[in-house]
Amino acid sequence: MARRKFVCGNWKMNMTIDEAKALVEGIKPKVAGLEADVAVAPPFTALHAVAEVLGGSSIRLAAQNCHFETKGAFTGEVAPTMLRDACCSLVILGHSERRTLFKETDETVGKKVGAALDAGLQPILCVGETLEERDGGQTLAVVSRQLKAGLAAAGADRALRMVIAYEPVWAIGTGRTATPEQAQEVHAHLRRDLEAMYGSAISDELRIQYGGSMKPSNAAELLAMPDIDGGLIGGASLKPDDFAAIVTAAAS
Ligand code: PEP
Repeated sequence: MARRKFVCGNWKMNMTIDEAKALVEGIKPKVAGLEADVAVAPPFTALHAVAEVLGGSSIRLAAQNCHFETKGAFTGEVAPTMLRDACCSLVILGHSERRTLFKETDETVGKKVGAALDAGLQPILCVGETLEERDGGQTLAVVSRQLKAGLAAAGADRALRMVIAYEPVWAIGTGRTATPEQAQEVHAHLRRDLEAMYGSAISDELRIQYGGSMKPSNAAELLAMPDIDGGLIGGASLKPDDFAAIVTAAAS
């Protein structure tokens, strides 16, 4: 089945409001009309300003994280409904930096996915193994565990609202990319898991992005693999030309 490719830029903790506006102004004309879905994930502080620049554009707005509660005494946290209020339609959850640096567990990621869906957001659920886990032959078991825990609260009726991102931790921000074959192996495995959970009508439709040092020079070969349905882009999403080149590769 032909899944429309989906490329999302994860800006991480970068960009002042003015820088964010300039970046999205640079991206907008370069991706207009391309046959791929596109989103950007600025830091919380720039969401509103970027939403204003996006206006009626088809580029969607994503947040990089949210809490699983809807409101209350959770200093420093942001609720999924607040992200909707700030014009987000997507939220990245379970990114390896959240898991590693901020001690998020499979269980909290699963709760966040459920809360994001409850609020009407589309979660991008990130899974991926560390280098140690890959070297130990644990890759497929690790991503299966993260996938199942992340989707525990989703349920079959909401599964189609999900996006999955396979991001090998050893390839994030390191300049080291999984080969297309390495990535395809894991993507195919995740799709088999999704099929076992929800059946093929759903697993055939769900998009699985690859993330980990994707850039203009390697995007086309990764995106040519049958189960790679787009990219979650860190470093290269901060440069309009590079990000647009990846979207162009996804569209062709
Ligand atoms: C990411 O953090 O989601 C990512 C894929 O980063 P990079 O493209 O910089 O490796």
